Formats: sequence, C-alpha cells, structure tokens
Amino acid sequence: MDLPKLAIAALGGTVSMQARHVGEGVIPTVSGETLLTTVPELKNLARVTVETLGLHPSASLNFDFLLSVLHWANYQVENGATGVVITQGTDTLEETAAFFDYLWSHHAPLILTGAMRSASQVGADGPANLLDACRVALAQNSRCRGVQVVMSGQIHHANTVRKTDSLALQAFSSPLVGPVGMLVEGTVRYLREPFQRKLLPLPQQTTQAVALLESTLSADTLLLDNILELGYDGLVIAGFGAGHVSEQWADAVETIAKKIPVLIATRTGSGPTAQSSYGFTGSEMDLIRRGALMAGFLCPRKARILLWLLVGCQRQDELAFFLAQD
Ligand code: ASP
Repeated sequence: MDLPKLAIAALGGTVSMQARHVGEGVIPTVSGETLLTTVPELKNLARVTVETLGLHPSASLNFDFLLSVLHWANYQVENGATGVVITQGTDTLEETAAFFDYLWSHHAPLILTGAMRSASQVGADGPANLLDACRVALAQNSRCRGVQVVMSGQIHHANTVRKTDSLALQAFSSPLVGPVGMLVEGTVRYLREPFQRKLLPLPQQTTQAVALLESTLSADTLLLDNILELGYDGLVIAGFGAGHVSEQWADAVETIAKKIPVLIATRTGSGPTAQSSYGFTGSEMDLIRRGALMAGFLCPRKARILLWLLVGCQRQDELAFFLAQD
C-alpha cells in the first residue's frame, strides 16, 4: 500500500530535552531523528521525512526563524506531504500556533506539539503527543482546519489555545470553547465544524516592533510615555477586566493611538473585551473614543502576533476586520 507522506520538523523544547549529567537541568539535545525512534508505529502510517531545524528552548524562538520554518513547511506540502508536524517548546506554543495560522494557506494540516516532561523523565509525554500529532496531521478530516495544537490527546485550534498551567501534564486548554477535537482510540474526532479563517500574506518586513504591556494596580506611565520615542510600531495592552486601564494610562493611550495602532485585550485569561458597557475614564468606551481598538476574544499575546503581522505587510488599517467575530 502506498503510504501518505508526512513531514516532521523538530525545533527543540522540553520534548527534545535531556540532562547531560545527573543533577544538571535538562537542555535541548534530542534531534528529530532520535525523537522519531520513540514512535516506531509511525512506520505503518506514513512515509516520514524528519528534519531538525533547531534545538531551542521556545522562549528563544523568534519571528525570522519561524518564517524560515514556515518556508520549510510550505515546501513540504508543495512536494506532496499530506500533513506537517512541528515539535517545539510549549512555553510559546500558543504564540507560534497563532503566527503560523495567519500565514498557513494550505488545506493540508499543520500540527504543533511538544511535551511537558523531558525525554529523560519517567512517563515522558513526548512520544504519545508526537504520535497523536502525526495521526491528526494525516487524517482526512483535519484538512481545511489551519494550524492546530495537539497535546494530551486533545486538539486545539491555534487562535484559542493557551498554556494555562506551568507544569501540569494537562497544560493546554482553550478557555470558553474547549478543544476542537480529540483522539479516541487512535482515531481523530472533531467536535466542531471548521470555520472560515482570515489569512495574511507573508510580511514584507520583520523589523517592526510591537510592545505588550499589562495594566496593573497603581502602575506608573514611564514605559507608556516612552513607547513612541522608543520607535514602537504598535502597542497591545493586556487591560483589566473587559479591557480597562487607569485614568493615567487612558491619557497616554490617546496620545499613542494618534501615531500607532493601540489594541486593548483582557488580562483575565478568558472571555472577550467589552465594546459598549462601561463609560468611566479608562473604560473600553473611553478607550475606543480615544482611538484604541478592542481585541475581542483574542488574548493579549495572540493580539500582538496579529498586529505584528499586519504591520509587517502594511495592512494595519485592516485590524478591525481581523478582530471582527463572524
Ligand atoms: N518548558 C518548555 C517546553 O515545554 C520549554 C520550552 O518552551 O522550550 O518545552
């Protein structure tokens, strides 16, 4: 039987980490090729190409590197891969997933996965997550669903998934909506229909800078007051509650929004920003009047990814369209 082609890339992260000596912390050392030996079952499912594109802790991934990974993934699909799997660190998985999803124009699935336990730990979850991710990437019903994250037997869409626990095995969730699907006895089951995604072209520039600041009680305005002078091209604020800031921050937002896009998200971790509920100084209605946009259901980190990509292709005036829920 002619098996489908599957492309896997390893970028590093806990899934590829081991301690070199007893008592030392784990660091990324395990190549994609070695990772593959932990899932011998895969040989019966696909003809696999594997590449180690990096061995980084995911905190040190950057947009330029991710664009080169995307280029690699595009090439794999254009050369016949049914699906693509990327293994990486979990710390920034929610951001890389959103980044790729805005740029992934194929019907073929792009699946991200990682592990919460290192390769040398008892009960390491990397092999099971990798096998699940491959099953999802190969499944016919995964087509036209964009970029998804597979962890702990669950499938999450890129625009909702978040790391919501620092160390637990079950570290990923999609607040409010839940996983989009799951693996049941090795088969891929979806709980919801695919939806129409909004895609962006590749950024023509990657030097733009978008700041993300969080509103905190009694915060000063030092950083805000210097955002324009520092040369930022956009600002995201993780606001209080439904997207609120203090009176002092509201004044600064007004000044900044005259020059660069300002996007207000919620720092709560779940739920949307408001549009028309509160009227006090620093509320969402006040901030909208002052020129800011509300991020809706998009979490602050994903809002920053969107704004960075839009600025990168000079389409920041389409921010409202990309934020609209339809
Ligand atoms: N704890 C992280 C992981 O799961 C480290 C990283 O993000 O690279 O891989």
